[in-house]
Amino acid sequence: MKKIISLFLAVSMMLSVFIPAYAIETEESVHNADECTNIPVIIVRGMDFGGLYVDYGTENERSAINTDAGMIIKGVLKAIGTGIVKFNLDEVVDGVIEIVNDIFKNFSMDENGDSLYNVDVPKYPESADNYDNLRTGEGFEYGMVRTCIETFGEGHTYYVNYDWRLDPYVVADDIHAAVETAIKNTGHDKVNIVCCSMGGIMTVAYLTEYGYEKVNRCLFMSSTFCGAQVASDLMVGKVDIAPENLYNYLKYTVSDNNVLSSLIDILNFFGGFDVLTKLTDYILENYKEEIYDDAIIPIFGRMLTLWGLTQPEDYENAIDYVLGGRTAKNAGFLKRTDALQDMMKNRTALINEMIENGVGIAVVAHYDAPLAPVYENADFNGDSILETYQMSGYATVAKYGETLGDNYVTENPEYISPDRVVDLSTALFPEYTYIIKGAPHVSGSYGTDYADFLVWLLSYDGEFYAGASDEYPQFMVSDSSQSLKAFD
Ligand SMILES: [Zn+2]
Repeated sequence: MKKIISLFLAVSMMLSVFIPAYAIETEESVHNADECTNIPVIIVRGMDFGGLYVDYGTENERSAINTDAGMIIKGVLKAIGTGIVKFNLDEVVDGVIEIVNDIFKNFSMDENGDSLYNVDVPKYPESADNYDNLRTGEGFEYGMVRTCIETFGEGHTYYVNYDWRLDPYVVADDIHAAVETAIKNTGHDKVNIVCCSMGGIMTVAYLTEYGYEKVNRCLFMSSTFCGAQVASDLMVGKVDIAPENLYNYLKYTVSDNNVLSSLIDILNFFGGFDVLTKLTDYILENYKEEIYDDAIIPIFGRMLTLWGLTQPEDYENAIDYVLGGRTAKNAGFLKRTDALQDMMKNRTALINEMIENGVGIAVVAHYDAPLAPVYENADFNGDSILETYQMSGYATVAKYGETLGDNYVTENPEYISPDRVVDLSTALFPEYTYIIKGAPHVSGSYGTDYADFLVWLLSYDGEFYAGASDEYPQFMVSDSSQSLKAFD
């Protein structure tokens, strides 16, 4: 008996010594953070307008945008039919508003700014290499994710997808979860955050709510970290279609097609855009209020993201225009919009504090493309989606197609682009801001120069400021295939 007990004890002792040792050894052979110089990357994507689903993950799952062709055709026929028969534009506008509501009904938020319907998005809680579609991405954020997986190794890349209508403070919780998972899985104590487009304001919310202690670098790529003029204009009723803006945008859209491009020039020569915009002006003059009351406000009015993107100088006007003022009924909602405006007000101080405490910051903004010609300030220079003014952190930027002029005086000649279109002197973080002429919105497609630039931003092991490498100077030129060269 004694023999058996002592044998049992001996075996237990051996097991207790060897099993944990063995367990630790296997874990270390997979990844030892002390010996690894690859810092995990969190990619916070931009707005995926068509990426929302009703009853996501159930058998009833369907796109939140209702594009049932039968419904749309029926609506259009009804609108045009009754309008023409009765010779009445009111009927046409009513019909169009009805169709728009049918298409976007699922986007609606409740009066507190939360989703009215059961809408969600695909989420990626594990490291990105666990998902086939993320390992094989090509363009935009997907290309970035693939580049990061291949460059920094498995388990080092995390992708944050979110419902872009939501309060950025709600999305901040998802970013926090990704940061914590990355740290837990890899054993590293910090992450690099790459926030793209709408991901900018979401990341500002994360940094505000959870701090920057776990952030090594933060890259603001074509981002909304300073809001967006298009959202601001929408919220104060500055909807407008100007002939020059329409012409510029169409020319840009068809720039690869000589025939269409010439047709647009001919149309412009004969005043076609003036005629066209006289019609839209007439519609806006007579129906803007109705369009806002019955379509824009019910669909977009309570999206907290848009309230965060609204520029401070437009904010109170937006409250009057969209909500009818600071009424008691709106108090709950306004508490949240006020919080977002405060967050954006404190953003500059927060990022400066991050820089002082050793967090690497890069702001990357593009220009030389016109914007969607549907709002008053669509004559701003941009990257066809967002305005360079906000993406760059408020650089001084000439209107699209113009320069700042020969008489323009900059505070610092080093900070003006060689074509005198962008002056970084007025930007919030000029030392850390890159300006790239001609690059598309959220570049970084797989296999491009721009992807190499992204890798450099994430891995460069030296003093981190714009232009730290001769290869990637502060002012660069790109083309649509995202090649990069110095602009001088
Ligand atoms: Zn590692």
